Amino acid sequence: MKIERKQSVVLVPYPFQGHLTPMLQLGSILHSQGFSVIVIHTEYNTPKYSNHPQFVFHSMDDGLQGIDLSFPSLENMYDLNENCKAPLRNYLVSMMVEEGDQLACIVYDNVMFFVDDVATQLRLPSIVLRTFSAAYLHSMITIFQQPEKYLPFEDSQLLDPLPELHPLRFKDVPFPTINNTVPAPILDFCRAMSDIGSSVATIWNTMQDLESSMLLRLQEHYKVPFFPIGPLHKMTPLASSTSILEEDNSCIKWLDRQAPNSVLYVSFGSLVRIDEKELIETAWGLANSEQPFLWVIRPGSVPGFQCAEALPDGYEEMVGERGRIVKWAPQKQVLAHPAVAGFITHCGWNSMVESIFEEVPMICRPFLGDQTVNARYLSQIYKVGFELEAIERTVIEKTIRKLMLSEEGKDVKKRVVDMKQNIVAAMQIEGTSHKNLNDLVDFISALPS
Ligand code: UDP
Repeated sequence: MKIERKQSVVLVPYPFQGHLTPMLQLGSILHSQGFSVIVIHTEYNTPKYSNHPQFVFHSMDDGLQGIDLSFPSLENMYDLNENCKAPLRNYLVSMMVEEGDQLACIVYDNVMFFVDDVATQLRLPSIVLRTFSAAYLHSMITIFQQPEKYLPFEDSQLLDPLPELHPLRFKDVPFPTINNTVPAPILDFCRAMSDIGSSVATIWNTMQDLESSMLLRLQEHYKVPFFPIGPLHKMTPLASSTSILEEDNSCIKWLDRQAPNSVLYVSFGSLVRIDEKELIETAWGLANSEQPFLWVIRPGSVPGFQCAEALPDGYEEMVGERGRIVKWAPQKQVLAHPAVAGFITHCGWNSMVESIFEEVPMICRPFLGDQTVNARYLSQIYKVGFELEAIERTVIEKTIRKLMLSEEGKDVKKRVVDMKQNIVAAMQIEGTSHKNLNDLVDFISALPS
């Protein structure tokens, strides 16, 4: 039976796939717990309202019309934070004062940090949603606290361990670097993103059992209640699509025709761009591995090309039925398909958690941000994936064969199966994610309105 709490929770997502998805999933979870959910979003990447009839949506003028945001710059991210302030405040005021809505709190993506200022002015409790791992935030904060200990570093140090940040190496510093250092504006932005201002709690799309030591250390730093309630995509009672791009469902029929446990899935998420050389090396690595593959080449992900036309001439005819290339896949369905045996991933947090949940071991090809941290944890701590040592066709081929055909590959598969069991346990009635969700619901219900 649905509990009527008559309280509304406002959600403010950051308008990119890897952030929008967990926020909408959180919305479904809170709605199923009896809260009304109001999603205040930017005009850019407006969520598909029809997929979420249970939410009230409101669009804010983000002031970025006509700007290419497909790979947002630091300036774009600051502009979003600045431009959305007044529209958010005005809408909240109209709801609170004019319509007398009872708002329990506002939950915002940590990249939309302006929300905390607006909420504080209106005396509305705010809660941060972290859409990445605790290990990533911990590594960022450790570096902020003593930047001189880490930056700049020498080329000769690239493979040396980062002090206090095992298993990371200098080359895994989780920020974009120029000449082996991190530009001050990037550090400043990440500091702003990690700061919670006067927010009263943090919700995490992670599992307490998986990241307990990191969460404990972060708890000492932040001193507000933490609610790790992941994996959000499985905690949500409704599996509505949250995709911004149109999913090509025809690849599921293609997967149906493949042998069980035979296909390698390849995707670098919603933002990463690769150059033409990497596309070609990946293409030959896949072809030469002789394994069936499903490869997502997102439009615009190879600068200078629309989509797959950067592939070698006649490539698709050569691989024939053994390879399938799509512009965007229904990834969760793909990973859950019995034909899928492995995943070459950029190690975005959502992709990583989705893959573990479906017991699919990975080949890690991280590019930026949290991906380098995730890749090290996957390959060195959880040992459910192999790192790609070089972007060369022979290395790619060898790594695919190792994952799909070797004894080492079988070990990695066993570990990912065990890891999935631990996540399932967290979701059970006595499990940590389940209990933390109950605590979160009580916490929000008890907030002063
Ligand atoms: N995704 C998808 N279809 C694709 C590729 C990705 O639906 O063809 C989804 C994927 O399931 C995940 C999200 O896009 O939920 C990507 O988030 P992630 O954190 O992995 O990476 P990001 O895109 O933020 O770099």
